[in-house]
Amino acid sequence: MKVAVGAMSHETNTFAAGTTDIDAFATAVGDGVLETDHVGRSIGGIVEALDDAGVEVYPTAGASALPGPAVEPETYQWLREELLDRLAGESVDGVCLDLHGSMFVADEPDPEGDLLAAVRDAVGPDTPMTAALDMHATVTERMVESLDGVAGYRTAPHTDVAETGVRAATLLLDALNGDASLTLGWEPLPMLLAGEQSETEAEPMRTLVESLENADERDGVYDANYFLGFPWADSPHAGCHALVTGDAGARSVVEGTAAELADAFWDRRAEFGFTTEAYDPEGALEAAAATDGRPVVVADTGDIPGAGAGENTTNLLSAMLAREDLGRPFVAVVADAESYETCREAGEGTEVNLSLGQEYPGGTPLEVAGVPVRFLDADGARTVLVSLDGADVVVADRRTNAHRDPEFVRRLGVDPTERAVIAVKSGYLSPAWKGVAARRLFALTPGETNQRLADLPYEHVPRPTYPLDEDAEWSPRTARRE
Ligand SMILES: [Zn+2]
Repeated sequence: MKVAVGAMSHETNTFAAGTTDIDAFATAVGDGVLETDHVGRSIGGIVEALDDAGVEVYPTAGASALPGPAVEPETYQWLREELLDRLAGESVDGVCLDLHGSMFVADEPDPEGDLLAAVRDAVGPDTPMTAALDMHATVTERMVESLDGVAGYRTAPHTDVAETGVRAATLLLDALNGDASLTLGWEPLPMLLAGEQSETEAEPMRTLVESLENADERDGVYDANYFLGFPWADSPHAGCHALVTGDAGARSVVEGTAAELADAFWDRRAEFGFTTEAYDPEGALEAAAATDGRPVVVADTGDIPGAGAGENTTNLLSAMLAREDLGRPFVAVVADAESYETCREAGEGTEVNLSLGQEYPGGTPLEVAGVPVRFLDADGARTVLVSLDGADVVVADRRTNAHRDPEFVRRLGVDPTERAVIAVKSGYLSPAWKGVAARRLFALTPGETNQRLADLPYEHVPRPTYPLDEDAEWSPRTARRE
């Protein structure tokens, strides 16, 4: 038995400036897909489950990048062709793919749907195909038509990416062994939801995820999922979804379960609020200054590289420099290649003048003087800790998520527990930061990941959509068809 595997992972922020090209992606083809880290996320779990079952794994192609602006058409076409080339003339018994699900290409708002339809064409209608998707996938008609089974992350922050791969591969193996004949039940909801309002340790997501686990126990249901879409994409496919994989012999159970799960989600739509105390920027700094425990970790939620933003705004840093009640704050990260280069040329201990990042909106850089203190290469980026008059700031030569791990701060020679205030370019914090923070705050800063969704200039999102339109309505597709 032979199963083709591949990966395509990008969460596209269509409000972010610029485009994402091939250089931003970690890529691999053929056996390289199995040998290279970072070309996917759930593919490790997929391969492990297939190996354990004694199935021959046939790697095709993989590409994965940090979330960012719209992907260039040539980049997507490269991956599509590499993947399809390896399927052409090849006889495979099944296909299992690792996809994010919310990629957006300049001329194709549904690249996953396009890719899956092309793979379906290549392998024929009777070859089972399943996928592992990110919880923030944007599910489309073409994806549902092409796939037989789907498994999605059930944690945010995402700590179950490998397990999700195992689930997607297990669905496929059950189909290949004749133990199951797969079908999908899908209910899209007209709703936008930010990750910062839907962490799975908080309500209502905690209970909703539990309801997925209960649904899995039903006869005829194999794997029930919610997909939350991605609100910083002006996509005609935007929305939240219930998507259930079940037995083709129990279609009404599968569709009924999807409708029930969607109904439970829709019922609780008004309960989604920020999962962390949230304030406007000044309010967040005020609250931080009034806190005794340390460190207070302030998330700069308008400029999250993990949701595609440029990681270069200085609004929060400026506000921090204007205050004297924050101790010596630590700020990570401002991505600015020129400022990094200036520091590198000067070297440690030499004073530099930097035109740092940009104020958002407007683009005016922040003029600061400082001293490069320590250089550190981390997570594919080159970074430097710069000591300013009033704060320490990490400058990087490119966007990075290195600061999601507090160990990065320690490697820069700073003990995070000794600082009163640490500001990070993050939305909801990683589990590691949650373990370090005495108090967590969201600063609702302006930027490419503005958390106030009603302020975003949507043109293509279908309307009415909740919460942009409070009066948006929903009824199950199954009911509408009858
Ligand atoms: Zn996600």
